[in-house]
Amino acid sequence: MPNTKYIFVTGGVSSSLGKGIIAASLAKLLQASGFSVTIQKLDPYLNVDPGTLNPYEHGECFVTNDGAETDLDLGHYERFLNIPTSQANNVTTGRIYQTVINKERKGDYLGKTVQIIPHITNEIKRRVKILGQTGEYDIVITEIGGTVGDIESLPYVESVRQLKWDLGKHNAIVIHLTLIPYLAAAKELKTKPTQHSVKELMQSGVSPDILVCRTEHHIGEDIKRKLALFCNVDKDAIIESIDAKTIYDVPNLMLAEGLHEVVLKKLDLKASKKPSLSKWNEFLDHYKNPEGTIDIGLVGKYIELQDAYKSILEALDHAGAHNKLKVIIHPIHSEDLNEENAAEKLKGLKGLVVAPGFGDRGIEGKIAAVRYVRENNIPFLGICLGMQMAVIEFARNVLNLKNANSTEMSRSTPHPVIDIMEDQKMVTEKGGTMRLGAWDCKIVKKSKAFGVYGEELISERHRHRYEFNNDYLDQLSDAGLVPTGLNPKTGLVEIVEIPSHKWFVGVQYHPEYKSTVLNPHPLFIAFVKACADDK
Ligand code: GLN
Repeated sequence: MPNTKYIFVTGGVSSSLGKGIIAASLAKLLQASGFSVTIQKLDPYLNVDPGTLNPYEHGECFVTNDGAETDLDLGHYERFLNIPTSQANNVTTGRIYQTVINKERKGDYLGKTVQIIPHITNEIKRRVKILGQTGEYDIVITEIGGTVGDIESLPYVESVRQLKWDLGKHNAIVIHLTLIPYLAAAKELKTKPTQHSVKELMQSGVSPDILVCRTEHHIGEDIKRKLALFCNVDKDAIIESIDAKTIYDVPNLMLAEGLHEVVLKKLDLKASKKPSLSKWNEFLDHYKNPEGTIDIGLVGKYIELQDAYKSILEALDHAGAHNKLKVIIHPIHSEDLNEENAAEKLKGLKGLVVAPGFGDRGIEGKIAAVRYVRENNIPFLGICLGMQMAVIEFARNVLNLKNANSTEMSRSTPHPVIDIMEDQKMVTEKGGTMRLGAWDCKIVKKSKAFGVYGEELISERHRHRYEFNNDYLDQLSDAGLVPTGLNPKTGLVEIVEIPSHKWFVGVQYHPEYKSTVLNPHPLFIAFVKACADDK
């Protein structure tokens, strides 16, 4: 049995304290200290996965190589750790219940009453331990979604209690992330909400080993002493997490606070080296001290909610830093755009990204935006639906195929230049049934894409039901919109380009999911570079 150690991260007082970033920052420090680490997210909602959730509900849906539709925190984990996650890294209450109920129907518990304890908690514990049992990781960090005290979190907290007991001292610890609010009128930081949330946790039989305290002001020794006294936590295990300018500062802040040292001590582990964040800090240096700025538009229908395009925004930041530029994103609502106002609304932008999406809301605005940047030689990156809109725009305005469309938007279009994939035609269930995860793409040698990737065979992640209709391939290609990347087995068009344009690339896949701090995605790097090129 591998001797994997487990760290549980719970949250108290308020949601949105950034458990994912704290977990990822700690993981980064442990990784930099020589340990292999992965992070898992347990989500307390009843959807089997977030694939069926509207981005307004839960932000972006992240996709792993193995085709899991997951919480956006997995994106942070990958961007920080530079290693891929998988289906096993995100578990929801829906998935837990589905497994238990399926087992019950099969007769696995025949004769027994199936209950939250032990059946649901056993399934939660099994899902936590799966990652440790692969032998790949020295440390597994499990982030429990929600806030301690929520009804929905109860089975998870109970599972943590049991796991701590099962695994024994030094093998499992709990980090509780909490908020120390500042009362401006009293000019004071307040510990009471934290005391209450720790009490809540203790009522469930779990005492935290470490407190990480989110705060707008330094908390000082007094507050630490008070927290230690009331929360049964060692004073040196009370870690300040002061508000940061960027999430990418948090590993350095946690390093300075010594979070990793406390963790290693509590887990009885010795690091093989002092953590070095030199590569990370190289990125940070470029990110914080850019030599210039670049204005890029992002057209989408969820732009009110930045989390909806999390990975795209991060990928642009990574690519900007790589180019020593600060990318200034101008979010543009696709519903506000049309043929008449596109020039006005997109004025001054050095490049345009048209975002992924589903359904017909706002698509005419996306098409108008593509037309404007195509005709004005402004760099364009179309992602998934963005690529599909580029194909429709070209068909309508260059090939003069009136009312060309995707059959997703119009079943009766006379020119279905984007059509449903053959193997999707019979699919009626919505959950987890798209073309998901990593698929190969073969790149044509004489293309921008080949220049970008520098290799012929690439693999990128997908999430779609519709595709470029190959019945129109010759027509589109002869007129100047050229497929330059194809799935080697099926011929599905993965990349289109306009060679006569400064930089016009549409991709059926989602390059943003693979961009990390240490490995910014080549497509975003090349796109930002093209935007910055004034020639
Ligand atoms: N709605 C489109 C499809 O299903 C595009 C999906 C996306 O942008 N992720 O093919």
